[in-house]
Amino acid sequence: MKQLLQKIPAVHELQKHPDFINWIAKQNISLEKGTQALRITIDKIRQNLRKKNWNGALPGTPEFIEEVLQIWQDEIKKKYKHKLTKVINASGTVLHTNLGRARLSKNALLHMTEIASSYSNLEYQLANGKRGSRHSHIEEILTDITHAEAAMVVNNNAAAVYLILKALAWQKEVVVSRGQLVEIGGSFRISAIMEESGAILKEVGTTNKTHMYDYEQAISEQTAMLMKVHTSNFKTIGFTESVSAKQLVQLAKTQQNLIVYEDLGSGVLYDFSIHQIGEEPLIRQILSDGIDLVSFSGDKLLGGPQAGIIVGKKKYIDQLKKHQLARVLRVDKMTIAALEATLLDYMQTPEEIPVIRDLIVSVDVLKKRAEKLYNTLFFIVKNNCTLEIMDITSTVGGGTMPGTEIPSIGLTIQPHTLSVETLRERLRTGQIPIVCRAWKERLLFDVRTITEEEISLIGNQFQEIFPS
Ligand SMILES: *Cc1c(COP(=O)(O)O)cnc(C)c1O
Repeated sequence: MKQLLQKIPAVHELQKHPDFINWIAKQNISLEKGTQALRITIDKIRQNLRKKNWNGALPGTPEFIEEVLQIWQDEIKKKYKHKLTKVINASGTVLHTNLGRARLSKNALLHMTEIASSYSNLEYQLANGKRGSRHSHIEEILTDITHAEAAMVVNNNAAAVYLILKALAWQKEVVVSRGQLVEIGGSFRISAIMEESGAILKEVGTTNKTHMYDYEQAISEQTAMLMKVHTSNFKTIGFTESVSAKQLVQLAKTQQNLIVYEDLGSGVLYDFSIHQIGEEPLIRQILSDGIDLVSFSGDKLLGGPQAGIIVGKKKYIDQLKKHQLARVLRVDKMTIAALEATLLDYMQTPEEIPVIRDLIVSVDVLKKRAEKLYNTLFFIVKNNCTLEIMDITSTVGGGTMPGTEIPSIGLTIQPHTLSVETLRERLRTGQIPIVCRAWKERLLFDVRTITEEEISLIGNQFQEIFPS
């Protein structure tokens, strides 16, 4: 063994190898970086040799050097590869928080690239050459769509909730129903955000029932706000009762300066009910009940970039815009560009926004897509897997429309030459990772979230796993 290890060439020798020199020159990698990676590679190989964990060529042969340099190149390539990478979502969950929620529309992408690659009038008024406001670009279109008096945008909806509480209810009481003290995605808890903001949480009612008189009794001189929170990721069923925003508005009218605010989570600008999907009211309808402020995410059902959108009464939005925190939570130009283009899509071609397109797509289209996937994979997997197309349901995800299940089409894959878990892992760790569901002893691909173009990419991945 000792002899074998001694035959491993030294770093300073390998550095002189033409393949080493040529490759770093071609890849534009410094000698220092190349050498560092080489040292790491050789150390790893030495350890593997010691542990008898090496089945490559043996040191002392020309093949060994070839292999060392190949491993070294792979090591460097891995380092220079994006860690954030495209994933094929075969789960059917349109708003998968862990997979980045909404896919942006073509128009949003085009507008975003143009604004990001050039200078823009982000904070500049072209008409008079004076300083402008970044809020101005989207406020008008947001108020057009929602019929709100005013609007503003911050980093995400969590930031919107925080800003509203801090700016309008600091050291004052905010009344919230116990049934709405939600935790979303493990990191957003209304009670924690409230505490952080300096507003004082006044819980009323019980988990399943909160009545009008609960709110009435809770209001005092210390009360700044009545807050409703959308129970985005769960549904209470059975004996439940809650007070509507409309009723809260009526109650607030009896007091001075009592703000009614609803954290909607997923704001809906498109009427999904015409497609019998969910029961979420439009923002416009919610505002027509006279509520002062609502906030919602840009990358949930709206289908745009990550953002927190606040719409409502001008008098309050003006206060929010002036608050120091607004500067801290402000969005960048790429977000504004993507959001502006997405909102324009709502005026013209809402069905082309991927989130909407994928939620309202017909079962017939999904069936054809599943057949195409079946045909692509059938010739690749041969006897290695059994494929079957079946009727399934998809969920919306992203803490949106809990309990809503939409009819969809799935392709199940039952591997015979490897375990379901192994196949699932191979798919997840391939060139373009694929995330799918497991169902009984099979993998399940819900074609709702797979595009036509991705079908051949899935084919390539299976080809790698089951080479012919
Ligand atoms: C999703 C959600 C949030 C957080 O929104 P982000 O845009 O993810 O910050 C806050 N409140 C509710 C009710 C939500 O559903």
